[in-house]
Amino acid sequence: MRLLVLNGGSSSLKYTLFDQQKVVVEGSVEQIGEVGGVADYHTALLEVERRLIDHGAIQSFEMLDAVAHRVVHGGERFIEPVIIDDEVVKAIRELIPLAPLHNRANLEGIERMRKLIPSTPQVAIFDTAFHHAMPPSAYLYAIPMHLYKEYGIRRYGFHGTSHAYVAKETAKILKRPLESLHLITLHLGNGASVCAIEGGKSIETSMGFTPLEGLVMGTRCGDIDPGIALFLEKEGLDVDTILNKESGLKGICGHNDMRQVEQMALEGDEKAQLAIKIFVHRIKKYIGAYIALLGRVDGLIFTAGIGEHSAFIRAEICHGLETMDIVIDAKRNALHQTIISSEESAIKILVIKTDEAREIARQTEALLSVGKL
Ligand code: ADP
Repeated sequence: MRLLVLNGGSSSLKYTLFDQQKVVVEGSVEQIGEVGGVADYHTALLEVERRLIDHGAIQSFEMLDAVAHRVVHGGERFIEPVIIDDEVVKAIRELIPLAPLHNRANLEGIERMRKLIPSTPQVAIFDTAFHHAMPPSAYLYAIPMHLYKEYGIRRYGFHGTSHAYVAKETAKILKRPLESLHLITLHLGNGASVCAIEGGKSIETSMGFTPLEGLVMGTRCGDIDPGIALFLEKEGLDVDTILNKESGLKGICGHNDMRQVEQMALEGDEKAQLAIKIFVHRIKKYIGAYIALLGRVDGLIFTAGIGEHSAFIRAEICHGLETMDIVIDAKRNALHQTIISSEESAIKILVIKTDEAREIARQTEALLSVGKL
């Protein structure tokens, strides 16, 4: 099957072309709608088509067997991948208020692509879907229940495709059935979230109603007292911008890129050192909490930009957790080996490169091969 996976953000479009589950071409079109970039999503898609043709992979989009779109928010309705039809498009549009930037961009990609190749099956894979198994005790907030019913205010969780992928890979690496494993997966990128996974199912995750909750991120604050938002609003400040774009690592030390923050910390910058301390502290709190929820943990998995590449942050996070059966091996960690825990560590610590496109491709092929077409 020749399958194109599209992952559209607010200003970029990542693409991966798979043929028989092998990556043929991948890349991204950046700065959509920005100065110096392409004008809009339609132009971005035509640019993707041109690149695939230039590569010799296809002669036109018509040659694709299927297209899979990553969609950020599936609400309560989409708990598994679906084949896109008019009704699905309408439902994704209705979910825009829950993820204004993301779902609007995802929808635009879907609609444009459906116009370009109307008879090719297109599938939507939702970032929230993996977390649908969370129990009400995990997904409900202690606010008036009618708000859940009226507005759908609850924890949805995000990064589902990534958490699902690394959990499955862990099972393969440890040579144990996924159903038997209790895992804590740490997706530490610009956006960051942690997930407690029991038998392959998400039972709790740190992102909530929006991707703002939980860990300290590049520019997002993660957990704060909601009273802070109320206070800032009363002061007439732009709460959305402050909490989403000016907080996190950037808010503490002026930079959101962990490479830079680490470098500054090494050179003695106190704000950068503090940013790392707060970042690590928050993650430790979640690890402790998720051990309590899972009862027993078999694996702690690091993934995404920071998780995959920063031996320093991984060491800081694991430091002091030895009594909780998390013992990192300094050498293995420094070498970025797949298993970085020491032999005596009851909880295996793993570094796994996330691959959302591959997980989307797997899920799409599974959906299309069961004859739902
Ligand atoms: P996104 O959420 O944008 O997909 P990524 O998963 O690519 O993010 O992660 C980006 C983050 O990973 C940035 O903060 C970046 O600085 C960090 N990162 C990448 N490589 C390293 C490294 N070698 N050391 C520390 N941080 C790194």
